[in-house]
Amino acid sequence: MELEFFGAAGEVTGSCHIVRINGRQFLLDCGMIQGSREQEARNRDPFPFDPREIDAVILSHAHIDHSGRLPLLVKRGFNGPIYTHNATKDLCGILLKDSASLAQRDAEYANKKRPDQPPIEPLYSVEDAEMVLSYLKGSKYKEKVEVFPGVTIRFQDAGHIIGSTSVEVWLSEGDVSKKIVFSGDLGQYNTPILNDPAVIEEADLVLMESTYGGRSHRERGLTHDEIGEIISEAHHGKGNILIPAFAIGRSQEVLYTLGTHYEEWNMSRWHVFLDSPMAIKASEVYWDYPHLYDDEATKFRRDLHEMPRLKNLHLTSSTAESMVINRVTSGGIIIAGSGMCNGGRIRHHLKHNISRKECHVIIVGYQSPGTLGRRLVDGEEEVRIKGKWLKVNAKIHTVGGLSAHGDENDLIRWFSSFKQKPPVYLVHGEPKSARALEQKLQNEAGTKATVAKSGEVIDLAQF
Ligand SMILES: [Zn+2]
Repeated sequence: MELEFFGAAGEVTGSCHIVRINGRQFLLDCGMIQGSREQEARNRDPFPFDPREIDAVILSHAHIDHSGRLPLLVKRGFNGPIYTHNATKDLCGILLKDSASLAQRDAEYANKKRPDQPPIEPLYSVEDAEMVLSYLKGSKYKEKVEVFPGVTIRFQDAGHIIGSTSVEVWLSEGDVSKKIVFSGDLGQYNTPILNDPAVIEEADLVLMESTYGGRSHRERGLTHDEIGEIISEAHHGKGNILIPAFAIGRSQEVLYTLGTHYEEWNMSRWHVFLDSPMAIKASEVYWDYPHLYDDEATKFRRDLHEMPRLKNLHLTSSTAESMVINRVTSGGIIIAGSGMCNGGRIRHHLKHNISRKECHVIIVGYQSPGTLGRRLVDGEEEVRIKGKWLKVNAKIHTVGGLSAHGDENDLIRWFSSFKQKPPVYLVHGEPKSARALEQKLQNEAGTKATVAKSGEVIDLAQF
């Protein structure tokens, strides 16, 4: 009975771990590495295991850094069940096909740039992504599911995006029985729309994310005040507001926040564009699962019979509709992907607005090193977008309070639900954050914490 850390150990993206038991093996997540071109090139590396020998995958949630290499796994021979929450199954239907189209476009672009060399194959195809969908097995929260003899799981709400889970895994081999808990990505407490991360009381070992170790988010109320002020300033300056946002989670939360402050922020003066076909489809999944909302969102939905509550929302799916937004020079709030500005329609909008001092960019999520989003956050004066160097004159605002990830206090609060203070391995964090959380867990929560290393194998029977 052993566990090997493979991805998102010592880094944030590319979540993937392997458990071997009873002569069989399953993966916890199979995510894409995201970041700079060099980092993303690692997605093509061979898996450090034979995909044909993996019996099952347990998928914590839909974000591409947790699900994005599933089509590659299938392309390389995996053909077993993938257990996940029902809402994640729906989201994967949108996300993985999009990811495949992106891979296709990336390969075409790269091949055009190097015509004399042998063509690069896309990372995977839409057919590979569709094959993944046929393997997905959805279940509900709190439902026990047998993965194969000796392995039973139960999904608990992680409060991160719709359908996100922490996974309880019961393992038994011979006369040894252990329970490990994989936190998945944990949301903030009191996050809009979603419930708080569920309380889990028992575990022999915890694998825990550490994205925001050592850091605190600003209080959400203050973040909302700041957004209100930016909206007011942008109205007076007659500029646009760009919000790069992940299609899943962040976009819906931004819309919900604009909706719940509709009168207070004078939203009727604006045109709000959700300019992302994927975010539009993901929003539909959000509205399809109202039983997963928290009390406030449930009340809004009951009172207003619609979600989100925004009369002036334009859903621009087609390229033609999106291009019309280029003519909007004032009074537009444009929410578009990608969340880290390393692709997608947001780059077109940045190209049109970044050098205009009356415009504003609101960064509402984590920005990986090497991405355009990170360059903007770091205050670079000139950035390269679509082959052109552009002066950054727009105001860049980083409003950390809206993160889909809990901060250090949230992480400690989640861990404090465990009665026996089980040992912890920290994953899904840059080294500095993981080490900060390691210290905090040892000093304040009084438990043994270790930062996981990629390739490290641990014997689960010892815990
Ligand atoms: Zn996530």
